[in-house]
Amino acid sequence: MPARTGKEFIDRLQSQPPNLWIGGELVEDPTHHPKTKNAVRSLAALYDLQYDDDLSEVMTFASPSTGDPVGRSFVVPQTKEDLQLRSKMHKVWADATLGHMGRTPDYMNVNVMAAGMAGDYFAEVDQRFGENIRSYFEYVRENDLALTHALTNPQVDKSKQANELDDPYIALGLVEETTEGILVRGARMLATLPISDEILIFPSTVIQGGAEMRPYALGFSVPNDTPGLRFQCREPLDQGRSHADHPLGSRFDELDAMVIFDDVEVPWDRVFLIKDIDRANQAYAKTGAVLHMAHQVVNLKIAKTEAILGTLQTIVDMIGTGQYPHVQEMVAEVIITLEIMKALKLASEEEACMNEYGVMTPARRPLDAARNYYPAVHKRLVEVLQMCSSSGLIMIPSESDWEGERSADISKYLQGKNGSAEERLRLFRLAWDMTISGFGGRQALYERFFFGDPVRMKHALYGVYDRSEQVDRIKEFLANDQWPEE
Ligand SMILES: Cc1cc2nc3c(=O)[nH]c(=O)nc-3n(C[C@H](O)[C@H](O)[C@H](O)COP(=O)(O)OP(=O)(O)OC[C@H]3O[C@@H](n4cnc5c(N)ncnc54)[C@H](O)[C@@H]3O)c2cc1C
Repeated sequence: MPARTGKEFIDRLQSQPPNLWIGGELVEDPTHHPKTKNAVRSLAALYDLQYDDDLSEVMTFASPSTGDPVGRSFVVPQTKEDLQLRSKMHKVWADATLGHMGRTPDYMNVNVMAAGMAGDYFAEVDQRFGENIRSYFEYVRENDLALTHALTNPQVDKSKQANELDDPYIALGLVEETTEGILVRGARMLATLPISDEILIFPSTVIQGGAEMRPYALGFSVPNDTPGLRFQCREPLDQGRSHADHPLGSRFDELDAMVIFDDVEVPWDRVFLIKDIDRANQAYAKTGAVLHMAHQVVNLKIAKTEAILGTLQTIVDMIGTGQYPHVQEMVAEVIITLEIMKALKLASEEEACMNEYGVMTPARRPLDAARNYYPAVHKRLVEVLQMCSSSGLIMIPSESDWEGERSADISKYLQGKNGSAEERLRLFRLAWDMTISGFGGRQALYERFFFGDPVRMKHALYGVYDRSEQVDRIKEFLANDQWPEE
């Protein structure tokens, strides 16, 4: 099957709806449910971009299996140019959402690509697992599926290992192996984009302990309508309001969910790893998947920063504050953030290397810098938008106000320097949704945690970054009092 259209994405969600629970009720049809239909529509629009006449060269490439056009994010990069072209694809989807949909399907597509190419890694656990992950990559690519994923255990008692809790199956674990496959039980956090086709439980990086933890070392995939699988969603942020009132929340609420596996049977051909703690912990790093995902992320964050910069400058122009030096300084801060992220993306492509599985893999150091830098700087971007908007961010009567009986008041008192009241309100509502609405609040939390705990990410960077050259240079300098010569 070639790359999907939006309609094909919707049709599959209708025929195989994920088991989503929202507000105590099962969502029978996510394509029509009031809390999910708008996000579905946005995702469908992204899929349609694959067939945009001006974009199809960027968005697709010829399938190695059939020759049909398939999504560019499934490409196996062989050159730096392949990575650059894939970046363009990521950026098209990221720009369409103003960078405010974190888990567009390209994120998991590159995960599946890197894992599928690293079949040998999984074959070290069991020959079958290597074949399974290779076939799964082809299956996802050829059916252009949208995946979600969930890596962490429920936040019950982090002072204990999963097996030490009263119920050892609060965290997702292996119950038994059968002739047909494996039986798994427990929950995983936190599946963003549960409005999708399948879930990939990729071996996560956090298992500590010995043999007793082996049941928690898991890698598999199942369709989101599998019996026993449930997604308990958080309260939706799409409140059914117009695009004018809630420009982001009414379009891009991708949802987050706790995933419950109530004795789910996973057939053997969908099992990629079991019981091997070391290989589970290293899977992201060794397969290169984390770098390809971080490469998608850096493109997304560039798009988000550009959207914030565009919004900020339009606000400054709208209320005539561009002459104030501190306002200029704050705009400059956002520009600097944007250019740093663009430079890190370019560096990751320029310093890319072929990995042992024949995949041109973006360089780790710039991507590690980007994924540690952005969670820290995003909160400053939000602060800058707040500081430059001040009360304008909250004095934002709704569409029904500006169309209502008192519209003359609004037209007069809420007009801008270079725009009507409606233009000004639409703009400030966008800034509000980026910063202080429920949608904006979730964005702030997302930026802090979506790639993992920022504290542990920095510890990991401390652990892997080779500083020996810098240390040697300093030692050499300190030891050499003969330079410069007198
Ligand atoms: C909006 C949002 C979307 C997300 N989307 C996804 C997704 O799509 N897929 C996915 O798999 N995950 C997703 N996540 C989950 C994300 O990976 C986790 O939030 C992150 O890894 C932190 O884990 P936790 O939430 O369990 O926090 P915890 O690990 O419970 O951390 C809570 C606090 O305790 C500290 N702490 C806990 N344990 C340790 C330790 N061992 N060492 C040092 N400090 C510790 C942390 O630093 C933190 O301050 C998402 C999270 C958010 C907020």
